[in-house]
Amino acid sequence: MIRNPAETDRRLAGADHRHALTIALIYAAIGSAWILATSGIPVLLLQQVKFADLPWDQAGSGGLVIFASSWMLYLLIKEKLEQARQSATQLRLRDRALEASTNAIVITDHAAEENPVVYVNPAFERITGYRSDEIVGQGCQTILGDEGQPAQAALLAAFREGREGRALLHSVRKDGSPFWMELHLAPVLDEFGRVSHHVAVQNDVTENVRYQQELEYQANHDTLTGLANRNLLRDRLDQAIAYGRRDRRTMAVAFIDLDNFKFVNDSQGHPAGDALLKQVAGRLAGCIRASDTVARMGGDEFVLLLFDQPEGPSLATTLDRILTEIAQPYRVGAHEFNLSCSIGCALFPEHGEAVETLLQRADIAMYNAKESGKNAVRTYSNELDQRFVRRVEIETDLRAALDQGQFFICYQPQVSAAGHRLIGVEALLRWRHPQRGVISPAHFIPVAEETGMIVAIGDWVLRQACADAMAWGRDGLPPMRVAVNLSARQFLKKDLVQSVADALAHSGLPPGLLELELTESLLMHNAELFIATLRDLKALGVELAVDDFGTGYSSLSYLKRFPVDRLKIDQSFVRELMTDTDSAAICQAVITLGHSLGLQVIAEGVESGEQAECLLGLTCDELQGYHFSKPVPDIELRAFARTYEGVATAKAI
Ligand code: C2E
Ligand code: CA
Ligand code: CA
Repeated sequence: MIRNPAETDRRLAGADHRHALTIALIYAAIGSAWILATSGIPVLLLQQVKFADLPWDQAGSGGLVIFASSWMLYLLIKEKLEQARQSATQLRLRDRALEASTNAIVITDHAAEENPVVYVNPAFERITGYRSDEIVGQGCQTILGDEGQPAQAALLAAFREGREGRALLHSVRKDGSPFWMELHLAPVLDEFGRVSHHVAVQNDVTENVRYQQELEYQANHDTLTGLANRNLLRDRLDQAIAYGRRDRRTMAVAFIDLDNFKFVNDSQGHPAGDALLKQVAGRLAGCIRASDTVARMGGDEFVLLLFDQPEGPSLATTLDRILTEIAQPYRVGAHEFNLSCSIGCALFPEHGEAVETLLQRADIAMYNAKESGKNAVRTYSNELDQRFVRRVEIETDLRAALDQGQFFICYQPQVSAAGHRLIGVEALLRWRHPQRGVISPAHFIPVAEETGMIVAIGDWVLRQACADAMAWGRDGLPPMRVAVNLSARQFLKKDLVQSVADALAHSGLPPGLLELELTESLLMHNAELFIATLRDLKALGVELAVDDFGTGYSSLSYLKRFPVDRLKIDQSFVRELMTDTDSAAICQAVITLGHSLGLQVIAEGVESGEQAECLLGLTCDELQGYHFSKPVPDIELRAFARTYEGVATAKAI
């Protein structure tokens, strides 16, 4: 069989034309013409049959031709029917494949304007919720998801230009639920090679995208609080700096560190700590605008990235608000907690134009806020930088100080207000630095507290003070109570009570001669936590004093429940006793309160006879301050104790 008529003509022309009958049967089939040529007998392949060699006579040829033609026709029809059957099967198979596909398949008409949809398969109906009759006839835009997605433009162009295309698109089902689809577009060509249709295959990839987004979210967010993490902060800072440079905008990086958070975590356990951090994160996020960033750097450290707010509240207002918000009480389970935070701030471009510099300088400023008493905001300056360097040096040197015996204790006398009789001393730590000379505890105690070194140092003070006090008695000095300052970090150590018991046992000092001083803010911030420890300490027989009283916020109900013996009026009130009526009123109030709770009251920072007399008039029980003596080393204290009694008697009122 020859499909090409031109070729058939050529072959017929070349054949032997002796034979009279030549029948050409033309059978038209879909898309092709079939020519059967015969001369004497039917010929299937002209080039393979030699007519001259055939033994048939011409008479039989007519019948034969009819038979052969019919046979040929039969064969042709059979073949065509077989082909039609096969195409029908194939079509059915393809139809079935379309119907059974789990991917949505859409066919659009390329010839018509807007490429209308001409077919959607059942998976499309299942995935999108739209019925076929709701979509068929609509423009191709209807299958491209939410409008305005950048990827849509590329697909529309592919539709227009009859190209392949692929995109990830966000869409909404008929019921309003969102989903993600991967759409693959392929053109279909007609017999002339022109694009007639497009087949679009939609893959529902919502789960994959969600998973991807989850991974991305986790890589950029803090798992506990949901805030941005270091990575994301760094990205945003990079971006902000780039925009800042381009648009000459300013911004602030604020480093926030919670004060005393470790105590909650150490004492109440991590679940309570975590719950608190979540609440803190929520409050921080509530204080800033949507365009700003709040990130958790880890632990109890947060960083804010705040853009200039020409019309909004000023930076100072925002940061002050954060201080106030963080200081509101927290409730975790049945417990109430109080926290505060220290904030350090660095400005772009004034204090730096690089991410690292800004973060580091905000951190330096934050340390300064801590040093200046916590619960404060500080902005970076060059002077702070120098201080920071000194602080780092202190930290390094402090590590060696205990081993190398560089600490010593000064004792400051405490006298009875009425008779100026020496009744006790306060142990105040000093550090003799090999290069810098004697360093005040105000400079190194905060560093020791932060690094945790205070526990070992404090233990040394406790043992040394007990041993010294015991030695005074042994050396014939009058019995003097020795007051030792305890820092919060020590107080949280589970073995604090044991350490105190050991120091007493080791020295042989009667417990009644040891007093432990705890600051008011430390006690009140962690009141519930500390009551049990205070009772255990009290059970050892030691005295307990509340230091810096009047500077924190005392709860009277706690004060009543604490087994304390003495309130120490903070020296700031004593200093202004004669000049400021408020300070005098506070001194009076503390004394009255203390007495009504059955507590002794001691005033510290007494620098003049006038102040001493005034305090006596207010019925204060005991006094301490430069007016009587500065803190002095052991040897000088001994001399003071020996001589003072006589002087005090003479001065007695
Ligand atoms: P503090 O417990 O409030 O101690 C009183 C501070 O006031 C001492 O400063 C003392 O020298 C000073 N002072 C006493 N009388 C007067 C006065 O009349 N006028 C003035 N202007 N100041 C007076 P110091 O020794 O520098 O101690 C500072 C702080 O360091 C102490 O405050 C205490 O919180 C801490 N500290 C000292 N030793 C220790 C210690 O062994 N352990 C712990 N945890 N903290 C300590
Ligand atoms: Ca003290
Ligand atoms: Ca004090």
